[in-house]
Amino acid sequence: MRILILGPQGSGKGTQARRIADVYDVPHVATGDILRRAVAEGSELGERVAPILERGDLVPDDLMVDLIRERLADEDGFVLDGFPRTVPQAEALDAMLDEIGKPLDAVLLLEVSDDVALERLLGRGAEEGRPDDAPDAIRNRLRLYHGLTEPVVERYRGEGTLLAVDGEQPIDAVSTAIEDALESLGARR
Ligand code: AMP
Repeated sequence: MRILILGPQGSGKGTQARRIADVYDVPHVATGDILRRAVAEGSELGERVAPILERGDLVPDDLMVDLIRERLADEDGFVLDGFPRTVPQAEALDAMLDEIGKPLDAVLLLEVSDDVALERLLGRGAEEGRPDDAPDAIRNRLRLYHGLTEPVVERYRGEGTLLAVDGEQPIDAVSTAIEDALESLGARR
């Protein structure tokens, strides 16, 4: 299974992506986690991206595309979470998967309103102390989502591969809706 999961910050993407990865036995590839790990390790990549993450800005496309190319090189299946976030990233991903003859099976979209996303992120910021869950960074991230990532959603909607799920339901109901949507595509565990 090769799945993309899209949705704004606070849509529950990470939680659901981990569950899908478990159910379908594929790796959960989350670019935010990869970048935060690099920052924690103090690697060259980490030092370069730390201030970008803190502001809630986006890491440059070329850097992200290289990172994903390397990470997906030997994977047959995956749940990709946090990438692509811009149209150039989506174009690069499509070209990459085309080249190796491994198209996506599904693109999931978790839909939540800005109000719900904001409320959840403020809660998480208070609990986990993620620097990019501070109010200014949250607002910046949601603005970038609407400006740069929604066109990615529209691109997949146009291709007819998008499965939209109501992300405001309780976590288990979202999981069930996702599994139903994937089963309807003929996905097998
Ligand atoms: P996330 O955990 O997915 O919200 O990602 C945390 C932060 O990592 C984002 O606010 C960006 O600064 C950076 N990041 C993650 N994925 C990408 C991406 N595909 N393109 C650019 N920046 C990214």
